[in-house]
Parts: sequence; C-alpha cells; structure tokens
Amino acid sequence: MIDEIPVTAVRGVGPETAEALNELNIRTVGELLEHFPHRYENYQIKDLAHAQHEEKITIVGKVQSEPSLRFFSKKKSRLTFRLLSGRYLVKAVVFNRPYLKRRLAVGDTVTVTGKWDAYALSITVNELKFGSLDRTEAYEPVYSVKDGLTSKGLRKIIRAALERYGSVMSERDPLPPELREMYKLPSRGDAIRALHFPQNGTELKHARRRMVYEEFLLFQLKMQALKSFNRQSGSGRSIKVPKDAVHTFIEGLPFSLTGAQRRVIDEILADLEAPYRMNRLLQGDVGSGKTVVAAIALYAVAKAGFQGALMVPTEILAEQHAESLDRLLTPHGVTVALLTGTVKGRRRQALLEHLANGGIDVVVGTHALIQEAVRFKNLGLVVTDEQHRFGVEQRRALKAKGINPDVLFMTATPIPRTMAISAFGDMDISTIDEMPAGRKPVRTTWVKHEQLNAVLRFMLKELQKGRQAYVICPLIEESEQLDLQNAIDVHARLSAVFKDYKVGLLHGRMTPEEKDRAMSDFKANRTQVLVSTTVIEVGVNVPNATVMVVYDAERFGLAQLHQLRGRVGRGDEQAYCILIADGKSEASRERMRIMTETADGFKLSEYDLKLRGPGDVFGIKQSGLPDFKIADLIHDYRALEVARRDAAEMIRSEAFWRDPAYEELRNWLKKEGVFAGDRLD
Ligand code: ADP
Ligand code: MG
Repeated sequence: MIDEIPVTAVRGVGPETAEALNELNIRTVGELLEHFPHRYENYQIKDLAHAQHEEKITIVGKVQSEPSLRFFSKKKSRLTFRLLSGRYLVKAVVFNRPYLKRRLAVGDTVTVTGKWDAYALSITVNELKFGSLDRTEAYEPVYSVKDGLTSKGLRKIIRAALERYGSVMSERDPLPPELREMYKLPSRGDAIRALHFPQNGTELKHARRRMVYEEFLLFQLKMQALKSFNRQSGSGRSIKVPKDAVHTFIEGLPFSLTGAQRRVIDEILADLEAPYRMNRLLQGDVGSGKTVVAAIALYAVAKAGFQGALMVPTEILAEQHAESLDRLLTPHGVTVALLTGTVKGRRRQALLEHLANGGIDVVVGTHALIQEAVRFKNLGLVVTDEQHRFGVEQRRALKAKGINPDVLFMTATPIPRTMAISAFGDMDISTIDEMPAGRKPVRTTWVKHEQLNAVLRFMLKELQKGRQAYVICPLIEESEQLDLQNAIDVHARLSAVFKDYKVGLLHGRMTPEEKDRAMSDFKANRTQVLVSTTVIEVGVNVPNATVMVVYDAERFGLAQLHQLRGRVGRGDEQAYCILIADGKSEASRERMRIMTETADGFKLSEYDLKLRGPGDVFGIKQSGLPDFKIADLIHDYRALEVARRDAAEMIRSEAFWRDPAYEELRNWLKKEGVFAGDRLD
C-alpha cells in the first residue's frame, strides 16, 4: 500500500529532502502523489495569428539575426534578436541574460515563453529553451513548495515515484467502474498521472474533474453517513416537550413570533423529542430574533426536567444573554445562572455545586462551561451563539463527561447553500428568513476620508437628539499594535470634537473587566460615543445607538460589515451606517456599493464568498470547513451538488452496502473512520 511506504523509498529522496517534504505534510508515497500542482504554466505552442495583445504565450522559431546586446548598468542588460515563427518575423527581447549572446546563433531553433506585444510584434521573453519543445511539456505543473525544495525538484521526485509505484496506485480506485463510465471519468491512477504530467489541456481537465468528484463524493458520503448513523443509533435521548407550557410561554411574550420563528421552533422541538441527538444549525440575520428561539428551546428542556447551557464566545455577550434569558425565563420558574472567568472563589464553587445537583436549570457562559471542573446533573441541550469553533473537539469533551446532549448552533452569518451543504453537511439547518415586523432598515452610505467633517457633523446632530454612536477603527490585521494606536488616535480626536459628550474606548488589549466597563458605560449611556476595534461583539444590544461609523471599511468583509451594521437599528429610531473608504480599487468600490444597496445578509455573504473565498469569510480552521486538496467550493459548486445527490442515493441503495464493486469505496470510508465497523456488516 502506497500509503504506508515512506517517501524515502523513492529514488532521489534522502534525509534532507524527506525533511523538506515533511514540511509539506508529505510522509508517504501516497501523500506525495496526492500533492497536486496548484497551477500550470501553459507552454502550449501558440499560433501567433491567434495570440492576444499582452497574452503570455509560447512560440517556436528560428533565430534570424545576430543577437545584439546592450548594458544599462552592471547587472542590467537587454538582448534582442529576430525570430521567425511561422509566417511572422518577431522581435524577441531578453532582459538581464547577457550570456545568451554567445550561445544563440543564427539558424538555431528555440522555444520562448513571454508576453506578446501584438502591435510591436515583439515578445518579452521569460523563458528560453533550445530546440523545439516536446509536446508533453505543454503544461508544466507548478507545485507549492517550502525551503529546501523547488517545484522542479519535486516534479522529479514525483516522476520517480510514479515510475516505481504508479502501477500499485492504479490498482486502487474508490469509484466503481459503473460510476466512472457514467460520468466518463478516468481511473484514479490515470488521473493522478495526468495531473502531474498532463499531455494536453483536455486530459488535464478530465483528470481534475475526476479528482474533484472523488473528493466531493467521499466527503459527502462521510457527512451523510454520519448524519444517518446519528439518526439510527438513538444516540441521544428523547426529551418530552411540555407542549402546553411552551404554548403559554410563547403567548406571554411581549410580541408575537414571526412565521419563520414559529417554524424553526417546531423544527427544534421535534428534534428534542426525537430519540437521536440534535445537530442543528440555526441561521438568521442579525436582529431576526434568534435569542428568543433559543430561550424557548431552553425553556422546553428545563420544563422537561433537563438542564440547558448557552455558550457564547465572549464574556460581554455571556452577560448580555444571561440578562435577557433571566428576564424571559425566571418569571416562569426557570433558574438562570452566569458562569464566566470573572465568577470566582466561593461564588463559583456554589455555582458549580448547583450545576452538579440540578439546582440550576440554564447556565450561560463562555467555553469555560465545558471545562474540566464543570459537572452537570443532566445536561440535555447545548446552544451555541456565534461559536463556530464549537465542533468535534468540544463535543468530545462533553462526551468524555458522559454527556451527549442535543446541540443547536446559532449564527448570524448567513451561510450560502454551497457552504451549508459542505461544511455543515452533517447538520440539519433551520433558517429564520423573516424580520420582525416594523423594523426600519439601516440607512447605509459610503463616504471618502475627506468627507470626515461632514460625518462628524452628522454624528453631532444625532448626539444632540440624545442618541449614541459606535465608531469602528481601522483594522490592521498584521499588527495589533497599530490597531491599538489607531483606536487611541481616533478616540483622542473624537473626544476633542465632541466636547459636550463622553467618548469611550474599547480595544482588544484591555482586560475583560476593562472591556466590560467600557461596554456597560455605553449601554447605560454614560458614554455617548464608543470608539472600538472590532471587539464590539456580534450580538451586543444597545437600542439607543443609531449611528455606526466604520473607518477603512474596505478592510472588512461584507459579512462582517453587515454584522457591524446590525449593531444599530435595534430600537424604534431610524439608524445609520456610514462606511468610510477611499475606494481606490474597483473591487473595493464594488463592495461599498453592494453594502449600500443591499440589506440582505444572505446576498452579502454570497458576494463575499465570490469575492474573497470561503477561507476569508468563515475562517477555514474556525468553521471546520473542509480543506479540499483539489476541489474548490466556489468554482466546483456544480460538482458538489452532483456528488451530494449521488452520495444520498448511494447510502440508500443496497449495492453501496453489499456490492463487491463498492468494496473499495467502503474501505476508503472505513479508513476515514466513518464506519464503526459493525455498521457495515
Ligand atoms: P438576533 O440574536 O437574531 O440578532 P435578537 O434575538 O437579539 O436577534 O432579537 C433582536 C430584537 O428583536 C430583540 O430586542 C428581541 O426582543 C426582538 N424580537 C425578537 N423577535 C421578535 C418578534 N417576533 N417581534 C418583535 N420583536 C422581536
Ligand atoms: Mg443574537
């Protein structure tokens, strides 16, 4: 099995090279062969009649004139000669390679690659090879490499590995022949070979198509198998929801629920009652009313005799949620407690005891909630808010305590369908796609830095009406220090401008207590303006704030800007969001325009995904988004849909579970730990 053969078995791989490969997470021959090029140089020979101006092309020709050489400085030189390529007499220009003068002779055949100037009929040469290029070299793979290795070197190693182990590799193919035939996909062995050494563009395309499909299919099978096992295994417990009590609770709310809220509540309550473990994602735009949905679920669980936990990313949010849950639940005889890092000593001890003996029904806190010392009497439901990181690890931590609760993940980042079926393919999804009635959309404008004074005048007017304003400072990812400096500068400036008002400051370097104070000062209107780095948490609720100003708005993603905008417009007054951005690039102007034109978080996150890619939008590591080797979630979206449908069909079919043609596929999934052995036979 090539997955067990170390790379050192490949000719030419000594300890040093092995170490360099190690850096790329390549330890076995299998991993080496699946380290695919991240792009290709296209050296396909171009017919000049079809070459575009400024296109990068490769042509073959005969040298027609003695090269002439000029030096501009010691190191800078320019070599020119005439080249006859087909019917065209072309001028070839080579910079800084003076030694070519002696090596090039009239009548030599050369292959050159470079930028084509269609008007001057000249090519600026990046690469020059003697002779007419071998056709197999038309596409040259470029690998991502690290120190101690070059793309060319890696290519040599892969060639050696293919020569020696290619046939072994070809024996194993998780895709059954029937499926390959249906989609006209090459075998795994052929596809891998072609990805490393493509003969031509068509072969490369099919090879890629095959590997993308395989990657998506395996992934989807894994996700869907997990989901169906979860359903079958009765791993969770059935929580008997007291329908009447829940109904009364809902009737007692100060507003009536939106249709979307009612629908998702039904979905959640049905999951609670079912014998399987709930694994549900609840998405809804900022302000769509997720908290009350969570409160209803927690209420139902508490009334059924179980405990519930609400986990949030920060202490400020924990406090705010604890407050609102307390207000909603305590009058109905449900005890709510807050557990964060700042709860210490005797109070903490007492709280932990109450959690262990069931004296507390609902606890709100940060990840501290699932730490070692915290024991529950009978935890039935965990709700997480904006906690992308609550994943496999956290679940394992809970499982280790002998608890396997229902889990509801809430997020205000609308997740485009592509993402939803990939990253969250093992989850059920509920969507609140309706806003409570009477919400005034936030008015969004985009201004340039030079209009700052007008912005300040506008802010002053709102302050005079008794409103409050947030100011978000430039976000400089590379440097926390600069972030801080920016926030401090802006704070000083605004304090000087708004003399009659108090301006608060909130940034990432403050202690939790300091942050807390800054936030509660703003909440209580002791400060009227809050200058902040992005530590203003998603979900913070100050209804009197009507202005959100974002400096250097182009540095933020659309989804993020939308989140920030969601901090205002939570009361009855008209709210405003002012984006300050110079819009130097077309892309950033486009993004600012989109922000001013659409209030729909879903649309924004679709745009974001297209503009920036999933890694930037969700943070690959945080979200547990799969890191595909070759497939691209955006580009290969259609293949993902196909794979998803096929996976669903397969899992339901008898053949998939029994047929020898699927044995290899089953083995691959077993290797991935999808099947717990007994389930297959
Ligand atoms: P989210 O967490 O989804 O951003 P919240 O749960 O914080 O939204 O709700 C925002 C505000 O809307 C809260 O003040 C909440 O009380 C209120 N709200 C929630 N549901 C409704 C509704 N159906 N009608 C009117 N107001 C609602
Ligand atoms: Mg919320």
